[in-house]
Amino acid sequence: MTGRRTVAPEQNPPGRSALRRALRRARDGVSLDVGEAAVLLAARGEDLDELVGVAGRVRDQGLAAAGRPGTVTYSPKVFIPLTRLCRDRCHYCTFATVPHRVPDAYLSPDEVLDIAAAGARAGCKEALFTLGDRPESRWPAAREWLDAHGYPDTLAYLRAMAVRVLEETGLLPHLNPGVLSWSDLQRLKPVSVSMGMMLETTATRLWRDPGGPHHGSPDKEPAVRLRVLEDAGRSAVPFTTGVLVGIGESRVERAESLFAIRRVARAYRGIQETIVQNFRAKPDTAMRDVPDAELTDLAATIAVARLVLGPSARIQAPPNLVGEQHGLMLRAGVDDWGGVSPVTADHVNPERSWPALDELARWTERAGFTLRERLAVQPEYVRSGGSWLDPRVLPHVRALADPQTGLAVPGRRPTGLPWQEPAAGWRASGRTDLHLDVDRRPADDRRRSDFSEVYGDWDALRERARTTSAPVGGRLDSDVAAALRRAEKNPSGLGERDALTLMTAEGSGLEQLCALADALRREAVGDEVTYVVNRNINFTNVCYTGCRFCAFAQRRSDADAYTLSVAQVGDRAAEAWRAGATEICMQGGIHPDLPGTAYFDLAAEVKRRAPGLHLHAYSPMEVVNGTARTGLSIEDWLVAARSAGVDSLPGTAAEILDDDVRWILTRGKLPAATWVEVVTTAHRLGIPTTATMMYGHVDAPAHWVAHLRLIARLQDETNGFTEFVPLPFVHTNAPVYLAGIARPGPTERDNRAVHAMARILLHGRIPNIQTSWVKLGVDGSRLVLSGGVNDVGGTLMEETISRMAGSSHGSAKSVAELREICAPLGRPVRQRTTLYGEVPAERLTAAASARPSRALLPVLGQH
Ligand code: SF4
Repeated sequence: MTGRRTVAPEQNPPGRSALRRALRRARDGVSLDVGEAAVLLAARGEDLDELVGVAGRVRDQGLAAAGRPGTVTYSPKVFIPLTRLCRDRCHYCTFATVPHRVPDAYLSPDEVLDIAAAGARAGCKEALFTLGDRPESRWPAAREWLDAHGYPDTLAYLRAMAVRVLEETGLLPHLNPGVLSWSDLQRLKPVSVSMGMMLETTATRLWRDPGGPHHGSPDKEPAVRLRVLEDAGRSAVPFTTGVLVGIGESRVERAESLFAIRRVARAYRGIQETIVQNFRAKPDTAMRDVPDAELTDLAATIAVARLVLGPSARIQAPPNLVGEQHGLMLRAGVDDWGGVSPVTADHVNPERSWPALDELARWTERAGFTLRERLAVQPEYVRSGGSWLDPRVLPHVRALADPQTGLAVPGRRPTGLPWQEPAAGWRASGRTDLHLDVDRRPADDRRRSDFSEVYGDWDALRERARTTSAPVGGRLDSDVAAALRRAEKNPSGLGERDALTLMTAEGSGLEQLCALADALRREAVGDEVTYVVNRNINFTNVCYTGCRFCAFAQRRSDADAYTLSVAQVGDRAAEAWRAGATEICMQGGIHPDLPGTAYFDLAAEVKRRAPGLHLHAYSPMEVVNGTARTGLSIEDWLVAARSAGVDSLPGTAAEILDDDVRWILTRGKLPAATWVEVVTTAHRLGIPTTATMMYGHVDAPAHWVAHLRLIARLQDETNGFTEFVPLPFVHTNAPVYLAGIARPGPTERDNRAVHAMARILLHGRIPNIQTSWVKLGVDGSRLVLSGGVNDVGGTLMEETISRMAGSSHGSAKSVAELREICAPLGRPVRQRTTLYGEVPAERLTAAASARPSRALLPVLGQH
């Protein structure tokens, strides 16, 4: 470690005319670019006065629009340094230490609760958990402590302590555990009201170059930290971030950092506050000789942050780090002092104690503002409802919040409350009869009123989609012929280039491709076409995940929203059994109020009412949601689900297993790696799954090839997939289509090529390729049945997801209708079980003699 500071590449002051021009544009309210923002960061003297004046007015407009003009906020808190061990080595940090300098690797539960209780007695409302990044991966002392106390990792201990603080003191946890994965965020969201991590800077050289302040600190790579901000937004976690001023970054780099925060804030609306913090050198650190950031530089950065992030942003400066310059920082656009503690020290800046609250109030009043208490979650999120807060922490928030303003009720003391599911439990509500008229409804292509709020920044998405859906280059007929020859010899070993050539084949090349797929189908499974008699049960359509292709999801208050009770799900399963079904396929929206045990309760009820049914239930997204709610690992959750009655998992929620495409298609669904983790864990446990791919939106043939090759590789490792189901994108009511970003679904050529290539690339690995009649209809299904497909799926009995998206092929098919699809092919047709076995005679008879009622159980007898 060295004390050298990497030299900023440009720090010459900008020219006078550039500064005047940028100031004029700021004054006129014109949107600034990075260059102009960097120029303004150099404003000093009269220019700085003018800059802070403009920024201050923007802040004032924002506070007036938020309904609290002239109000500056702070959060009374205690600071809980759960562990001061850290795997990183930031050169300015005095918080992180080594094991022999602390009495123990972690604070004990009693120590945590003592701090929190002292805070509650002093009127604090926030428990700020600050800790080093994953110390167990660097320090044996940390690993040993966790093992001795029964916690698999630091985050498990953090989760447990957050629950105890909620239950025993009522303080609201704000978690700062450093870099978090998407899965970590799901795990911690139910026990906190907000989380945070300073971006600090996007200047990669400060992390990459030896001597840089972040060199040797894996968690300080800017790309990693930006990914955390994005994942927090995707997970609807109110998130605090910020920039650190004066650690060696240039003005352009600092401006870029602010624009990066703005991009994430616009995309997900989850950045609840931005801290602008000045570097202060600390003795005993490698950067002890580096000069402190100047307070004028801090004021200019606050003002530029305000102009870049806009009036509705909450911008914060730590009041213990700004010397006597509180008035200047307020003039520059600050509207929040962040967390201030009357009880504990600032363990990150121990040399600077927090100001007394009356002193802070005086400084704030002197600048013309009123100081008000807020909670650890900013008022906008308290008031918004939606999915920002887990139902288990809502009672704690409501006990302390003024429902009108979303701020803290002055003088209210927190008291411990149970951390549990809402007492009302899981009940039927809304349009539980939606499945009955879904076929009679006209397509609804209207945009919902909260179109932008729910789905994010459409302009940025449009830009991203331009790169993902770029067409492939030219392809020659001779390439197709050569690729076909190689595919014939070794279908599943086809190289990437050949696979892409064939995936884009047209004309006679496409015909030959489909003929090859048909021959391989015959070789793999013979001529038989199979189907299953099953019933779909979508137990709720309430969902805030924000998938931009989904027209099924509703908000709690939407007219079409519904939730089935456990008993209603059981009734539908029993009806399906009477109609001859062998399978229930059950999935639902990610309802924020879903109790932790709901998935198990629903599975157990299905099996209680119809023990002979195979339960094919819960997408990988639901599995992860279940783990977040229960605190179980994926493996333990799957074991519990199997005990409750789950027999296999649908491999839905795969969409395209490429995050560049996924993050256009969805705001909050699980990343590709987590999908893979769930299905492979299931396979390892002996729970089979299907695999799917939704295509024809903002993707390109290269994504389809890569997706199929990934499925093939996974199958080689686990052999757990029973079938592959290509799912053509249904565009009509899909938000991403209504916003003008996605294509109107795949073409007929695409459908034929995708099904044929699935057969070819999965040959010898996954024997069954299924057509989705819901999406392709009768004619489309017949076409792909001649090009590699051997299964027509199920009767479904009630299909609402594709119907809500605008599919026009109905929501149920009788056995007769399924057989009708296959009739022109002249191939034998066979009813199968979920796992492609033989159906017991009793089930065949029950299906054949089912009462022909489409409204209830639309299995219309058998040919
Ligand atoms: S696809 Fe599923 S997770 Fe996504 S919004 Fe629709 S219901 Fe929710």
